[in-house]
Amino acid sequence: MGQAYSYQCDHCGYEENFNQGHGFLVHSQPLRDYLKQPLQIFHYKTHRLLQKLAQENRPLFLKAGFQIYKCPHCKTLHDKIEVTVYDDDEVVHKTEFRCNQCKSRLKLTNIHRLKKAICPKCHRRTFHRNHTYLALWD
Ligand SMILES: [Zn+2]
Ligand SMILES: [Zn+2]
Repeated sequence: MGQAYSYQCDHCGYEENFNQGHGFLVHSQPLRDYLKQPLQIFHYKTHRLLQKLAQENRPLFLKAGFQIYKCPHCKTLHDKIEVTVYDDDEVVHKTEFRCNQCKSRLKLTNIHRLKKAICPKCHRRTFHRNHTYLALWD
């Protein structure tokens, strides 16, 4: 299950929703089972990498879901589909993302602690969470 968080800018009124949660796309499941299904839900590069990992003779598991990231440079928020492949507790692969503005590596952020971010429209520090809006999905 996951949640959608709404952010709004006090200055220009720009609004954006960010999704967070595992299980929406892929519950933890064997990588091979995932690759058997006809639907490709990830980026083709990710898919190719998963196919390659599946050729290794290891019982790998896959998990995917939305996570909210923040650019350490621009302080803007981005929700991305994080894909994790693991072998027991060991993480074999984890997706990494870069900011489309400055190309810095995005950092996973804790939305519960994050009060303010930079508005992607007017670039002021007036982008904050709208607490009146909360959506649940699964
Ligand atoms: Zn704004
Ligand atoms: Zn950036």
